[in-house]
Amino acid sequence: MPIDATLPYDDSNIFARILRGELLSKTVYEDEYALAFHDINPQAPLHILVIPKGAYVSWDDFSERGSDAEIAGFVRAVGLVARDQGLVAPGYRLLANVGLDSHQEIPHLHVHIFAGQKLGPMLAR
Ligand code: AMP
Repeated sequence: MPIDATLPYDDSNIFARILRGELLSKTVYEDEYALAFHDINPQAPLHILVIPKGAYVSWDDFSERGSDAEIAGFVRAVGLVARDQGLVAPGYRLLANVGLDSHQEIPHLHVHIFAGQKLGPMLAR
């Protein structure tokens, strides 16, 4: 079910539970600001999710309430993960769903990194 990105943060969401260590994830990177792990249902040969450590519902929430340090740390982490995975030369796609029309399902900001094949048009037609 898509979530309404205008609702307050709900700390029972799956990614909050991963951050608290209550659920396992296949971690690829972690620092003070971000955690990156493999998507449980990959949509490309490589599909990694990068989430901020702070409690933010979506890109909208993060860009409004996140501190400059959190935003810089998170954006740098996304770039670092992609570089560490060797994705800059072949190329990759970033995607962040926000709210109902985008079909965001988990109400904790996550950036998808897709790679490992030609990714085709941006949106299904
Ligand atoms: P979105 O539709 O943008 O909210 O994407 C949510 C993503 O989270 C989907 O690609 C799911 O496959 C992924 N996902 C859901 N639960 C888990 C989990 N426990 N570990 C890793 N990825 C997950």
